[in-house]
Amino acid sequence: MVRVPGTDKSLEEARAEGVDLLIVYSPMDAVEAAARRPEEQVVFFGIGFETTAPAVALAILEAQRRGLENFSVLCAHKLIPPAMMALLESEVRVDGFICPGHVSVIIGGEAYRPVAERGKPCVVTGFEAADVLAAVRMLLLQLRDGRSEVELEYTRAVRPEGNPKAQELLRQVFRVSDARWRGLGTIPRSGYELAEEFAAFDAERRFEVEPPESREPAGCRCGDVLRGAIEPPECPLFGTSCTPRKPVGSCMVSTEGACQAHYRYRTGEIER
Ligand code: SF4
Repeated sequence: MVRVPGTDKSLEEARAEGVDLLIVYSPMDAVEAAARRPEEQVVFFGIGFETTAPAVALAILEAQRRGLENFSVLCAHKLIPPAMMALLESEVRVDGFICPGHVSVIIGGEAYRPVAERGKPCVVTGFEAADVLAAVRMLLLQLRDGRSEVELEYTRAVRPEGNPKAQELLRQVFRVSDARWRGLGTIPRSGYELAEEFAAFDAERRFEVEPPESREPAGCRCGDVLRGAIEPPECPLFGTSCTPRKPVGSCMVSTEGACQAHYRYRTGEIER
């Protein structure tokens, strides 16, 4: 998140200008920071999919248990299955889905059943090259056989029912809400906000901030890349003004970004 370009600047640039920005490796580290600095407000930026949300829920419960009044969360968590359903409504032609392994550890393979029932095969896969290849093969076999099912390739980590304890934490601390997605617009019931019982830990309620309307950097096609409407090299900035060392859009920031992956494997640039 620190390097992701914002509407005006990245958090990294804000930090260089003197903003007090702590980089933590776990939401619980932010709780500890709040306990260490009782005279300051600590706002944790809760972002990510179902994978990271349970740890944020735990941190909120811990802050509540310790009675910390200077800890809050800016909640921007997103949910994967509603976004997949929204993609099916878009102009993008999808034959099947390789479903994300780490999200599926939490929500389970069954969460994709509505997608499969819409006629799109789903295969939950892991992260090794062999996992991805095996998932592609499983998808092709489903398409060949005219099947549309949820299959688990990543059986060493994912169960059909997911992780019930983590799901219970999510139900306890969050409520499902509409959320805005880059390139997809607002998708109904595709994000989390804090449940009413935890309103005291909601940074949006604690601080009155009117953020300006967000906008993409000029020329950036991240939204189209994320939807699969274009390939990264079709963006006019790809490899010229936008590179992994100087990303213009979010898809070029990390190794997980589609633009950075295209750039690295197209040009042979491997960051060590
Ligand atoms: S190349 Fe850069 S600017 Fe273009 S879509 Fe990708 S991240 Fe956005």
